[in-house]
Amino acid sequence: MKALTCGAARLQLDAFYDQELPLAAQIAMHKHVAACGDCAAELDELRMLRAAFSSVARARVPISDDDRQSLQSTVMARIKAERSAALSTRLSRCSRTCGWCMPASAPPRRPPRACS
Ligand SMILES: [Zn+2]
Repeated sequence: MKALTCGAARLQLDAFYDQELPLAAQIAMHKHVAACGDCAAELDELRMLRAAFSSVARARVPISDDDRQSLQSTVMARIKAERSAALSTRLSRCSRTCGWCMPASAPPRRPPRACS
């Protein structure tokens, strides 16, 4: 089997680390990183990065009562704003069809009828 170049090895480094390569390619990568200090260093860096990401992903970040209260207020304000916007849109659509929901400055032009 032809020896891997560093360029070819680097392209497969993630798959090698994840043991996703076919057996022959996995063996060739193992031989290459055992003999190549640069690629071995890349593999070590990949290993450290993966470990760091993994520990961050598992970490639970504590949230203070103030932050929790702020988040809750922000979410509730957003919900109210969206409900208000939805009501405004419905009233606008209704006023165009029946005239009953028009603001006081623009009195209904037609007698009210059921809104849909
Ligand atoms: Zn190499």
